[in-house]
Amino acid sequence: MQAKLTVVLVAIGLFSCCTVGFMAFYLVERDFQHAAQRQAFQGFVLDFKDYWTTYGGWKAARRAETFDSFVRRNHRKHLPRVPREGQPLGDRWLNPPFRYVVMDGKGMVIMGAGIYEEGAIAPDEVRQRAVPIEIGGQAVAWADRVGMASLSPQDVRYLGAVGESLVKGAGIAIGLSIILGLVFGRGLSRSVSKLTSAIRKMQESREEEHHVDIPSDDELGELADAFNAMSSELAVAHRELRQLSVRDPLTALYNRRHFDEQAAQLCRQADRYGSPLSLMIGDLDHFKQINDEFSHKMGDKVLRIVASIMTETTRESDVVARFGGEEFVVLFPNTSCPQAAVSCEHIRKSIEAYPWHELDPRLAVTMSMGVSGESCDGVNGLLSAADSLLYQAKRDGRNRVACPSDHA
Ligand code: GH3
Ligand code: MG
Ligand code: MG
Repeated sequence: MQAKLTVVLVAIGLFSCCTVGFMAFYLVERDFQHAAQRQAFQGFVLDFKDYWTTYGGWKAARRAETFDSFVRRNHRKHLPRVPREGQPLGDRWLNPPFRYVVMDGKGMVIMGAGIYEEGAIAPDEVRQRAVPIEIGGQAVAWADRVGMASLSPQDVRYLGAVGESLVKGAGIAIGLSIILGLVFGRGLSRSVSKLTSAIRKMQESREEEHHVDIPSDDELGELADAFNAMSSELAVAHRELRQLSVRDPLTALYNRRHFDEQAAQLCRQADRYGSPLSLMIGDLDHFKQINDEFSHKMGDKVLRIVASIMTETTRESDVVARFGGEEFVVLFPNTSCPQAAVSCEHIRKSIEAYPWHELDPRLAVTMSMGVSGESCDGVNGLLSAADSLLYQAKRDGRNRVACPSDHA
């Protein structure tokens, strides 16, 4: 990951540096060419005008001498490619970098630049490109360039210096881009691996919040913030979902399924460590009558109140669940049967003593319970022993706790 990112970043850096370097050099050279062409054309136009006016027209000038000899003889200052007086005629003048084809108003060639025959009609594209040469406000001829401008030695030296500094600049930029690529590649891959490991952890434990710390304002920082927000929302949603799956909706006690899981686990632990485990099954007395005499709604209210009394009167470590209908179960870990019976007696008294008359003056609620423990074999053994003792309690007159010792 880190290697790939670094290679990509360095490659992008190198590509940008080279592109910028080449583009800059190309633009500078193109500007030089344009400037040289402009300058040469201006010089040519001035010479041409002098040639024309000196002899009072093209034909008279032509009869007197050629344009080239006029230019050389008069040594025009404004044509930089013409050597100064006393200087030898260099190659540049004898083989000028570009020449001009000149036409009259009808497109007839009057100076062929060594390419077009004088007296012939110039091709259309040459006539279209041609620029007018004006004397006394009137266009007397039209000229078009033939060949490419070559640069003066000074221009070439200058361009060379520009090229050299561009190469140096590109070299520094390439070095920098490699360093930055390495640094950013490392930083970027560290941030991305933080995110991926948090996502992996989130898949493993969905109920926990996973926080990624990427202190930056860029897209990665935003991604981390979004991930953190999503992780806490997901954790809350998963916890709620889990609560829904283990709780009974009416009483908010654990449901039967969760009770079965807990009972199996606590039973295994009790077996392994030789610790006592007790279980109580409780059933509300004559609950059908409560529904019938008051209402089903009142029955539900009673079930909710009984559930909260049972939660309040037991320890945190005890597992209280709604077993079904108006039946409840409590698992007492690390508790012997007589100790559990004491707790159950406490629950029973609390239910009996609750101010039910405040709901309705005629209302009274009690619970019968069967408690089993220790000697019983497995969860099913505990359950069936407690269940039979519960019926014993019912038979014995209800609102009581039945223990094995009572009926041994
Ligand atoms: P006993 O003392 O022998 O236990 O008599 P009982 O009337 O409590 O026993 P029975 O099994 O005849 O009736 C239990 C009633 O509990 C029947 C059923 O309508 C009621 N019941 C079960 N679940 C709910 C519930 O969620 N809400 C309400 N309101 N009533 C329920
Ligand atoms: Mg019942
Ligand atoms: Mg009942």
